[in-house]
Amino acid sequence: MRIDVVTIFPEYLAALDLSLIGKARRDGLLDLRVRDLREHATDRHRTVDDTPYGGGAGMVMKPEPWGAALSAVSASAAPSGRRPLLIVPSPAGAVFDQAMARELAEREHLVFACGRYEGIDERVLEWAAEDFEVRPVSLGDYVLNGGEVAVLAMVEAVGRLVPGVVGNPESLVEESHSDGLLEYPVYTKPASWQGREVPEVLLGGNHGKVARFRRNEQLRRTAARRPDLILALDPSTLNRHDRDT
Ligand code: SAM
Repeated sequence: MRIDVVTIFPEYLAALDLSLIGKARRDGLLDLRVRDLREHATDRHRTVDDTPYGGGAGMVMKPEPWGAALSAVSASAAPSGRRPLLIVPSPAGAVFDQAMARELAEREHLVFACGRYEGIDERVLEWAAEDFEVRPVSLGDYVLNGGEVAVLAMVEAVGRLVPGVVGNPESLVEESHSDGLLEYPVYTKPASWQGREVPEVLLGGNHGKVARFRRNEQLRRTAARRPDLILALDPSTLNRHDRDT
């Protein structure tokens, strides 16, 4: 998968050299290119922002550097195939979730445009639709200072779903949000710690009982912490034992 990130703070994305995503880059599974928006500014001060038309507080990112940066990405994109998906992190976008991560993991080429200040001149998004599929995406209902933190989260969530990035693909199957529920609690050795015991059923080696225990814990935990997820569950995914929980 190819990923381009355009930002005025390329250093922010250095964390993507670490851990599983860093390894995936070194292994050639992720071709991740971080680009400095300021390289596309044309004045001596490498200006990327200006005052908003209509007045108001803050600054707005100028369209010209964004036009040049996105044209450079477009020119280096694979000539055939689907248009790259341009993700514009924004608190005014659709909220990112695991289903979107799964969808994005199927794409060949993602481009992230990191806003700062009051955001990017709206005409950039309209113009970019000629070469990209454009999608504003929010990390959640709060406001960050810039798109970089949102990109770190999205690239990690999407990247780990790309085949080969996580060594054991089974660890992706039973995770929170993979089946609409939160994950069950997990334990490791020692079996007794600070007077607290690992649940007996996990020590017995009965796979059926372990599976039932974990499923019950998923249902209980989701009902307690995220009742909205329980309400959104497709009832046909529940079995008779689930209904008794
Ligand atoms: N004035 C904008 C608004 O109210 O919608 C907020 C601008 S914010 C200070 C600057 C940049 O941070 C945004 O352009 C966006 O790239 C990023 N950002 C802020 N909150 C975000 C969120 N919840 N999800 C994704 N990106 C966010």
